[in-house]
Amino acid sequence: MIYSQPMKILLLGKDGQLGWELQRSLACLGEVVALGRNEADLSQPATLAAVVAHHAPQVIVNAAAYTAVDKAEVDAFTAHAVNAQSPMALAQAAKSCNALLVHYSTDYVFDGSGTRAWLETDSTAPLNVYGASKLAGEQAIVDSQCKHLIFRTSWVYAARGGNFAKTMLRLAQERETLSVIDDQFGAPTGADWLADLSAHAVVQASADSTKLGLYHAVAAGETTWHGYASEVVAQAKALGYDIKTRQINAVATSAFPTPAKRPSNSRLNTGKLEQTFGITCPAWGKGVLRMMKEITV
Ligand code: NDP
Repeated sequence: MIYSQPMKILLLGKDGQLGWELQRSLACLGEVVALGRNEADLSQPATLAAVVAHHAPQVIVNAAAYTAVDKAEVDAFTAHAVNAQSPMALAQAAKSCNALLVHYSTDYVFDGSGTRAWLETDSTAPLNVYGASKLAGEQAIVDSQCKHLIFRTSWVYAARGGNFAKTMLRLAQERETLSVIDDQFGAPTGADWLADLSAHAVVQASADSTKLGLYHAVAAGETTWHGYASEVVAQAKALGYDIKTRQINAVATSAFPTPAKRPSNSRLNTGKLEQTFGITCPAWGKGVLRMMKEITV
């Protein structure tokens, strides 16, 4: 660790998948003031400056987000308030008190075309309201010129909270056949790893401002939702779950029409993250197995 003084860190969204893990990861850096929706409501952007001023942190970590992708299509106002206007307010507040703002974004800023893993420098073109609101949040932070780290991630899971893996685990105990999409590609990424790399990056970027900026942060390798579900079911069987599922059908995205369009290619290139911070991106299946063991009683 290069940073020798304890930091004062303001964490927003403390009870989400990532927020919960950040409470653990950030604790070794100093005093963490962790706030939930009741103490800092991101649907009310105008209230956030006072929250930041009150706590006067050196680091603000924003793990709060409007993550209901389909609901955002009919609630764009709230999605933009939480994902765009509040990050803008936090960035302005960070700039005022010279704090470092750490923020998270998504593969959904891209249109999902092609098969190559997206670089941070690639053009963005979100397909849905959620993606557009997250992109607007990123851009507001960059435009504010506050000190920032933005991590775009994908397919986040954690032992605590709701996610695809846990849904598949439940369904596999109920149904003989599952049908899962096999034409969207990405990497399931553990909130625990994301939280740990955030703490590493905060330390390094606090000592070296050339490391500030935008990074892609996902686990190594790639799969589809079908491959992910198959891995979860195989792991669950090995862990002794009473699995009813005998067949997992691979189906096209068109088989499950949803209000929000999803990108097919959610691969993110993590070369910049690895080279800048010396961080290792673990194979996605390893973290999923660890999470499966963690939720197994
Ligand atoms: P979660 O949905 O698990 O957690 C989101 C958190 O935001 C919850 O604690 C929620 O509070 C909080 N929140 C929502 N609305 C408000 C509000 N108005 N005011 C205050 N807090 C609010 O998300 P993740 O932890 O999975 O996501 C972390 C980050 O990663 C986000 O920026 C997300 O956009 C990004 N991301 C997530 C992906 C995923 O698959 N989950 C994929 C790609 C990127 P409450 O508990 O009260 O509901």
